[in-house]
Amino acid sequence: MTAATHSTLFPQVPETADAVLDGLDPEQREVALALSGPVCVLAGAGTGKTRAITHRIAYGVRAGILQPASVLAVTFTNRAAGEMRGRLRQLGAGGVQARTFHSAALRQLQFFWPKAVGGDMPRLLERKIQLVADAAARCRIRLDRNELRDVTSEIEWAKVTQTVPADYPAAVAKSVRDAPRDPAEISQIYALYEQLKRDRSVIDFEDVLLLTVGILQDRHDIAEQIRRQYQHFVVDEYQDVSPLQQRLLDLWLGDRDNLCVVGDASQTIYSFTGATPDHLLNFRDRHANATVVKLVRDYRSTPQVVHLANGLLSQARGRAAEHRLELISQRDPGPEPVYTEYADEPAEAEGTARRIRDLIAAGVPAGEIAVLYRINAQSEVYEQALADAGVPYQLRGAERFFERQEVREAGIALRGAARAGGNDSLLDDVEDLPAQVRAVLSTKGWTTKPPSGSGAVRDRWESLAALVRLAEDFARAKSGATLSDLVAELDERAAAQHAPTVQGVTLASLHAAKGLEWDAVFLVGLTEGMMPITYAKTDEQVEEERRLLYVGVTRARVHLSLSWALSRAPGGRASRRPSRFLKGLRPGSGSLGSVGVTGSGGIERGIAGGRRKPRGPVLCRVCGATLTEAGAMKLMRCEDCPSDMDEGLYERLRDWRSEQARELAQPAYCVFTDKTLMAIAERVPTTDGELSSIAGVGIRKLDRFGADVLAICAGGEGGAGGGEV
Ligand code: ATP
Ligand code: MG
Repeated sequence: MTAATHSTLFPQVPETADAVLDGLDPEQREVALALSGPVCVLAGAGTGKTRAITHRIAYGVRAGILQPASVLAVTFTNRAAGEMRGRLRQLGAGGVQARTFHSAALRQLQFFWPKAVGGDMPRLLERKIQLVADAAARCRIRLDRNELRDVTSEIEWAKVTQTVPADYPAAVAKSVRDAPRDPAEISQIYALYEQLKRDRSVIDFEDVLLLTVGILQDRHDIAEQIRRQYQHFVVDEYQDVSPLQQRLLDLWLGDRDNLCVVGDASQTIYSFTGATPDHLLNFRDRHANATVVKLVRDYRSTPQVVHLANGLLSQARGRAAEHRLELISQRDPGPEPVYTEYADEPAEAEGTARRIRDLIAAGVPAGEIAVLYRINAQSEVYEQALADAGVPYQLRGAERFFERQEVREAGIALRGAARAGGNDSLLDDVEDLPAQVRAVLSTKGWTTKPPSGSGAVRDRWESLAALVRLAEDFARAKSGATLSDLVAELDERAAAQHAPTVQGVTLASLHAAKGLEWDAVFLVGLTEGMMPITYAKTDEQVEEERRLLYVGVTRARVHLSLSWALSRAPGGRASRRPSRFLKGLRPGSGSLGSVGVTGSGGIERGIAGGRRKPRGPVLCRVCGATLTEAGAMKLMRCEDCPSDMDEGLYERLRDWRSEQARELAQPAYCVFTDKTLMAIAERVPTTDGELSSIAGVGIRKLDRFGADVLAICAGGEGGAGGGEV
């Protein structure tokens, strides 16, 4: 065994430059060795593109061919950039810059602003919408809230596609977009928005790239200074490069061609920002002497996952599809992908959480599991289900639901309205709770009709829409619930989800999952309307959705689960259909009704609640009323009925829980939630049977913690030794 092979088994710094190459296959090695001149790697998911370029840089640095400070590696997300820096350090090539286009540009802009423009760089604007509203008002154009959001999205689109205000109407006509207003009016508002930004000395997110490009174009001295510093450029995920990013790259390069790009046209998922795989696919047209390498061995996924990925792509249409690369798995066979149909969304979330718990019990680390969905607003129900199941999780690419700015603002507005009670004029004559919530949230930007298109504006709307749905579900479960009840429920959910970030299951949108991999991946919410998303209307937009699903499928190393729910809420009409993309792939597609549980590879029916205790009416043990609210059901009494809790016992249970959580390196709610501990302290169970009848104490928790808890209830201290009784 050479030192280098040894180094691939243990993350030690390879001893020599050649040792860096030992972890590569012949084609990847060709990439790593092509250190001068243009290089283009066209390859499918999991074939080691990112690995090849990381090793290429490391090899160049270790062999003394590349100066670390002269290399700029550009990746797609800050996280990917951080990961690449980590890998480079491990390979003995720290000191290489790995950044996103945006962060590289921002750094250069901050550095060169005093010289190029003079004075301090303007402040970065966090949100455009207020400035757009001001611009519209100055133009004497009245926009309702929907239109304001849609016009803001249009301005974002125009900026990323480098369309100046005067050209906007022509660009809209060419791109077959539905403009939310007369394009001439939007162009006018857009022009004034730009003017206001200058007057107020602020810049927006898109300006960072635009201004850097502008400065490099106009100031040859500055462009030269940057070119002297950076001699070699490497771009990962090049299929998603936007025209503006490409322009910046061209300016960085000047007349040199030391550029290495890698990408997979089948993973193009940012076309809505004007990105196009053409730059990748036409690389040879621009760089005739380019070394072009294709990788086909898939090192990431099992043959079962790869088979599904290939099948999904075989139905694809369009330019990217013409260049699709059939993947060949290098891994041992694994389990078949599992397809599960659930009756409703909460059942899907609970079923998913249950499967995740089983995987963790079977030895898959929580950090090697991901739940991926189409839009961030879908995260809430999974955050809740995982918290209920005691499984730690972390969100990627988005804040936790209750920490999102719009959700926090909405919470403040709801709390204010609840406090005002009947004295809030906004809520005059509005009795029904969901209607009240809709009225309050409409002051925060919620509207019945979703904004057209995607982007930040849409994300914000989706979060508010998720809150509206939550209110509807809550009102259904608890008749007569007031706004104050809802606020209390939201607080409780927020508290359960507020646990410190730990190594846990990843919750992420498909877009944020790009480039990453996990042992087990759950693709959830795969219904028509969500996948493809309703606003994907044209054939190209639908194809982009298919590619997004392909990105999701190819994130899995071994376990892959695909699921959907036939209705949104329990008891709702089963009006949803599974995603069209699964047709011909999932067993029995087309005649779903005839398929039952077929075991591995078949469609499983997720039973609402599964092994959960039956959902029969639960009565308050103090006043006998039927309980409908989750928290009350856990306590088995109305929350305002008097508690007969043994406070001392509750405190002892909490101390014990903290100790357990510390030992397990998990948040406390993963041991038991506050509600469950309270219920235990009220009922003081003496047997396993009594303990397991308490909501939140399943078989697993009974096995693990039952003896401790019963010992504490009997007056002992619990803990490993069982304590004194
Ligand atoms: P994506 O298209 O999803 O970005 P990719 O082509 O960039 O994928 P990588 O992330 O570089 O693929 O590699 C996928 C997995 O396969 C990683 O775990 C990587 O370490 C492993 N891998 C790649 N090449 C090899 C190799 N030659 N030997 C062993 N493992 C490899
Ligand atoms: Mg990659």
